[in-house]
Amino acid sequence: MATNKDLAELIFPDIHETIKDLEKRYPERNLPEGAEVTRFAPSPTGFLHTGSLFTALIAWKFARQTKGVYFFRLEDTDQKREVKGTGLDLVRQLGNFGIVANEGYFGDHDEGNYGPYEQSKRANIYKVVIKELIKKGRAYPCFCTKEELDELRLVQEANKVIPGYYGEYAKCRHYSVDEAIDLIKSGKPYVIRFKSKGNHLNHIRVHDEIRGDMDLTENDQDIVILKSDGLPTYHFAHLVDDHFMRTTLITRGEEWISSLPIHIELFQTMGWKAPKYAHLPVIMVNDKETGNRRKLSKRKDKEAATSFFIQEGYPKKGIIEYLFTIANSNFEAWLMENPKGDLDDFRLAFDKFSLDGALFDLPKLSNISKEVLANMDKKTFAEECLSWARQFDLEDAKRIEENRDYFESIINIEREQEKPRKDYEKFSDVFPKIRFFYKDVFDSLLDTPFPFNPHLDKALIKEVLEDFVATLDLSCDETTWFASMKELGKRHNFADDRKVYKKDPTAYNGWYADSIAIIRVAVSGSTNTPKLYDTLKILGKDEIIRRVHAVSERLG
Ligand code: GLU
Repeated sequence: MATNKDLAELIFPDIHETIKDLEKRYPERNLPEGAEVTRFAPSPTGFLHTGSLFTALIAWKFARQTKGVYFFRLEDTDQKREVKGTGLDLVRQLGNFGIVANEGYFGDHDEGNYGPYEQSKRANIYKVVIKELIKKGRAYPCFCTKEELDELRLVQEANKVIPGYYGEYAKCRHYSVDEAIDLIKSGKPYVIRFKSKGNHLNHIRVHDEIRGDMDLTENDQDIVILKSDGLPTYHFAHLVDDHFMRTTLITRGEEWISSLPIHIELFQTMGWKAPKYAHLPVIMVNDKETGNRRKLSKRKDKEAATSFFIQEGYPKKGIIEYLFTIANSNFEAWLMENPKGDLDDFRLAFDKFSLDGALFDLPKLSNISKEVLANMDKKTFAEECLSWARQFDLEDAKRIEENRDYFESIINIEREQEKPRKDYEKFSDVFPKIRFFYKDVFDSLLDTPFPFNPHLDKALIKEVLEDFVATLDLSCDETTWFASMKELGKRHNFADDRKVYKKDPTAYNGWYADSIAIIRVAVSGSTNTPKLYDTLKILGKDEIIRRVHAVSERLG
């Protein structure tokens, strides 16, 4: 009579290593007390989803704040779903947000002693473990075809019993070793299943770092652990990898809670200590059409792909801060107190996670981004804006490159002061607001109508402009300059007080804001500019005069 050992040798004749060997190859990590080993373990199925960025950020942060290790593992065992090349993209995109692993898969190479970090390259490691499970009678080959499994499901539905491959329904677990060996020898294709000892009538208590103790139904399913393509399923691969990569804390989406009992049983069967688990809330949005909450969706929401934020030019720090507000309820208050604070000084805590799904709220991201951009010093701002523009706005990137100082002085208006102005939400907002500073842009505007107040006649506008040019003096401070602008208005019958004008509007051409608006429009082609005094100083006397003359001429 053949034994489980014979079966194991028949299935894996080339596997000679043992679990003990693996334990030696991947020893316990020598880390300080409390240091967490975390990981981000995406499947290479496409772009970086905002939810994945959130998951990676949490793992990275917990490792960082405990002086532990954060590694990147590519879970590419489902080769049908794999989109080639996206593993590298994921690494790069995370890098964009400053989330760089301490070890792991880096797209074109691995770093670290616990690799390989691509599951498809770890097939032999999984086989070592499965071979031992077979020897112990805790895994077996299953020869059921897809048709048989479909039929089983129909029978189970008709009998109203729990669906799946378990207990009496698990046909192949009941074969004797001899029968199994014969079937393999006859060439019948098979997968390997785990032999569960659980019972779905039992409950188990499992601790989750965010949710506390959870009562879950014990696993009794004989899940597939090795597919016919020689690669493991997620459940089994993560067991082996997180054990041998010495993960201490698994942070992953809450969709995995339902399979947690499988994972717990697998860890127990192996006699391995399971890592801590923290199941993260899913990111939700309020559906614009129905008003109901639903999951952030790749198909429906532009903000589901992190590439959206990158293209629009949201500052990375703003996105990270925003994701922290989703993660921890006390983060916003911390940020208010530490607007320029280093994010490393904030400690993320599991007991501050919200459980009812994190709500993604674009207006809030906008506010945070405005704050971040306003508080950036001009050099950093210019640097980041340029790197954005090099990707998405080449023409304006050239403007910055040709004269970095000029650009810096423009975006420095009302920056680097006690309460900086929140002019920009994202880098794509910058040039539409400041492009007029550039001569060629201004000159091209001359072919379009200038937005002067239509209630003022052209002769009056020209008069004001002529006077402005004739008396132009930018050597004084802002207060003096402003007073002179009021005087200018007065000379052309613009009231120097709004109330006075409002009391008797027919007696005046307007009030001084209207006369200042004439100057603003003439030098910029727009009714909305950064602070006019600074704008004028940056343009300089010659350019102002050139612009005003050109505009006056066109007024006829
Ligand atoms: N590959 C799994 C996923 O993308 C990883 C889950 C985990 O972190 O364990 O959802």
